[in-house]
Amino acid sequence: MRIGSGWDLHILVPGRKMMLGGYQVPSPVGEAGHSDGDVLVHAIIDAIYGALAEGDIGSHYPDTDPRYKGIASIELLKDTMTHLGTHRIVNLDSTVILQSPKLRNHIDSIRASLAQATCLSIGQISVKAKTTEHLLENAVIAQATVLLS
Ligand code: MG
Repeated sequence: MRIGSGWDLHILVPGRKMMLGGYQVPSPVGEAGHSDGDVLVHAIIDAIYGALAEGDIGSHYPDTDPRYKGIASIELLKDTMTHLGTHRIVNLDSTVILQSPKLRNHIDSIRASLAQATCLSIGQISVKAKTTEHLLENAVIAQATVLLS
């Protein structure tokens, strides 16, 4: 067994899509970023490479590389899955910290999107949502933990 953790933060700005786990959450603001800014996918990728002790998202997909400009991060997660070798993901747990919009009604769609990209079952993927007590209005944070066998 190997465990990995990941964490990421993106600033929220008008005119960008809010992408979480490859699913677009309806929102007037979205993550700024070189890629589509999918903060949840970035945390999950870091957790997987962390479990493998093979660097991080920046070392595999550098944000200075024009190939990754505007890329859908879920495609990077699909590539990450090809680095697992003989390892398999047992389960994945995550938390998205966001003041607005509320994610309650989107959680299962986000899980389904992640399941499709990773070829895992929905039962192996947990996505939880927290607000920030209004302390953080213009950013979104994601944390992820993954267990490999
Ligand atoms: Mg990021």
